[in-house]
Amino acid sequence: MAQSSKIARFEELRREVDSCGTCGLCAGAKNRVMGEGDLNSRVVFVGEAPGRREDESGRPFVGSAGKLLDRLLSGTNMSRDRVFITNVVRCRPPGNRRPKKEEVEACSGHLERLLEIIEPRVIVPMGNSAIGHVFERFTIEGSVIGAAHGKPIRVQAPWGEVVIFPLYHPAAATYNRKLLSELERDMVELSRLLAQV
Ligand code: URA
Repeated sequence: MAQSSKIARFEELRREVDSCGTCGLCAGAKNRVMGEGDLNSRVVFVGEAPGRREDESGRPFVGSAGKLLDRLLSGTNMSRDRVFITNVVRCRPPGNRRPKKEEVEACSGHLERLLEIIEPRVIVPMGNSAIGHVFERFTIEGSVIGAAHGKPIRVQAPWGEVVIFPLYHPAAATYNRKLLSELERDMVELSRLLAQV
């Protein structure tokens, strides 16, 4: 898809998301967080939901988990502006609770359309919510994060073959050294994978 039409479709989606009232999260959100990065990126990172800082700024992963994600990206020769980062849902759940199934379902069409615009070769769901959602979307069994992280799974998407590469959520690794070292190892594997796709 040409860059100009990617931008046009992304802006059209943004307008729809900005006027969405499909689930209970919309009313409480200060900003809807579409995601940001390179619409031509070969990789899309998917987190759970905006937190307080993301809700205030309208940008994904700008709090402490985001700082760790930035560090992990730059440590493996990726950077925020050369990848795309988004979430399962676009509005902040109150008190940062996990989004409910009906909220995820209400927002799933937005994520699907975003992916169809970007057409990534690799999708990286981070943490249980994102892994659960992405595995269900692509009919993949076994979404237990401890077993699934760091293991590439090839699936068919509407735009071609895609590798799903699950990761621990950066927030989980912020205070857990063991998870952090697993996440660091997985990021190295991810950068190797990206060099091949
Ligand atoms: N955690 C997420 O899952 N997403 C964000 O955007 C920020 C924190």
